[in-house]
Amino acid sequence: MNDTSDKRPSPPRHADTRVVTAGRHPPSYHGFINPPVYHASTLIYPSAEDYVAQRSRYQYGRIGTPTTEALESAIAELEGPQCAGVALLPSGLAAISTALLAVLKTGDHLLVTDNAYGPTRAFCEQILSRFGISATFYDPTIGGEIAAQFRPNTRAIYLESPGSLSFEIQDAGTIAKVAHDKGAVVLIDNTWATPLYFRPLDHGADLVIQAGTKYIGGHSDVMLGTVSANAAHIAALKQTTFLYGLCEGPDDVYLGLRGLRTLAVRLERHFKSGLEVARWLEQRPEVLRVLHPALPSHPGHALWRRDFTGASGLFSIVLKPVPQKAVYAFLDALTLFGIGPSWGGYESLAIPFDLAPARTATKWVPGGPTVRFHIGLEAVTDLIADLQRGFAALAAAA
Ligand SMILES: *Cc1c(COP(=O)(O)O)cnc(C)c1O
Repeated sequence: MNDTSDKRPSPPRHADTRVVTAGRHPPSYHGFINPPVYHASTLIYPSAEDYVAQRSRYQYGRIGTPTTEALESAIAELEGPQCAGVALLPSGLAAISTALLAVLKTGDHLLVTDNAYGPTRAFCEQILSRFGISATFYDPTIGGEIAAQFRPNTRAIYLESPGSLSFEIQDAGTIAKVAHDKGAVVLIDNTWATPLYFRPLDHGADLVIQAGTKYIGGHSDVMLGTVSANAAHIAALKQTTFLYGLCEGPDDVYLGLRGLRTLAVRLERHFKSGLEVARWLEQRPEVLRVLHPALPSHPGHALWRRDFTGASGLFSIVLKPVPQKAVYAFLDALTLFGIGPSWGGYESLAIPFDLAPARTATKWVPGGPTVRFHIGLEAVTDLIADLQRGFAALAAAA
């Protein structure tokens, strides 16, 4: 076997290389580049004694197969040296709930960023509350001032940066430092950046969540969640995943692995096209503000520059006040932007949203109607022509 990329230990340095090489082991599969998709529940042991001693590299389909191990180890390598292991879950939301359940117990208090993904907030309010775990929400831009919000029983703090729909950037390093001084665990949803553009474990996070459904899968055809943990939390993460009986189906694991291989080139394009479209939108007379962290006009731009090495294709705009029907006319006139949830696939998307009812620690007063875009892999010229069509329809309906 002369495939040097699969010899260890000497992980290639650049992340773009690591998405290609990580988690591969052709010698184990007769030289074939990719691992087989193991459809597995039971496995059999050579003897009764081996069974009783659990003398086997794998124990059971739910616990792990060479297919799941390939994706786990690939993601672990991308997360950086602080990563002690990865759990694969059936969705991004399952990754969020599993990570929270891995660290919390009855009587604990949790701090949650006010711009968290909607179902994250609902899980805290509707499920954790049933276990006697209380959650309070904090201003995502609070930085070091977060210290004042810790209570004696604050066990964990949850971050998401940039936040869903509104794109505030959090000072993750400062918040993690305060949290650790207070003895609290730091969890972060890193779906937007992926470990290619931000590595939270390097900035003090203990558990990192990703909806692999988005950029890791990358083709709008898979539900997948991942949680990466540092050494202090990997045992609790694995135990919680195991005892809740959670696992990801082998075909979906494989789609995650397949998507991962092109993550770097796809993200580069989402970044470049997203920023081009964002800059174009910023010049439009119909647009009040563009909420894209890579634009100098974004309030979190300095933090983004400090911590992130890129931006994905997801951002929002605030339109100047127009009737709601004009916003719908704008969206309905688009032909390349699908109107639909989720994101991270190859195609462009757009949705209207209103965060006002979702905020409790901060007020959402954007100054006009808001729309979120996912910029896919289409040519920017075509996307801009489509948006021009949308603005013509908006003007006609306003
Ligand atoms: C989509 C999303 C999730 C949930 O992922 P699913 O795979 O759809 O469950 C979690 N966090 C963020 C930031 C997301 O955008």
